[in-house]
Amino acid sequence: MHDCLFCKIVSGEIEPQIVLETEQVLAFKDIHPAAATHVLVIPKRHIAGMEDVVTGDAMLLGELLLVAKAAAARTGIAKTGYRLVINTGENAGQSVFHLHVHVLGGRKMAWPPG
Ligand code: AMP
Ligand code: ZN
Repeated sequence: MHDCLFCKIVSGEIEPQIVLETEQVLAFKDIHPAAATHVLVIPKRHIAGMEDVVTGDAMLLGELLLVAKAAAARTGIAKTGYRLVINTGENAGQSVFHLHVHVLGGRKMAWPPG
């Protein structure tokens, strides 16, 4: 997608700090970390958000979660725990409209989230 920040990361126009990568999915460090460890996991194909996901994307969604789990292991937060977040739409504060899973860890987190 022409004007999408994360599509520019996928194309290499913007260089992220890559944590890991599969054929369909990319995991990289968040530029403004909200925790000691903060990784974003995105599909390489542009999907604006959860509201644009369809039944045929089930395998891709599964892979996003598996890569999120692998990213947690790779960054050393698997044992102490981590939180996976997908902000969707205005009330959730979604700011980049390319589907992404936040992997947050390295500190104790509160519930419910703010
Ligand atoms: P959300 O608010 O859920 O849409 O999350 C968007 C996330 O993208 C935020 O945590 C931002 O810090 C992060 N972000 C924005 N620009 C970049 C970038 N160039 N590289 C890495 N992460 C970014
Ligand atoms: Zn995109």
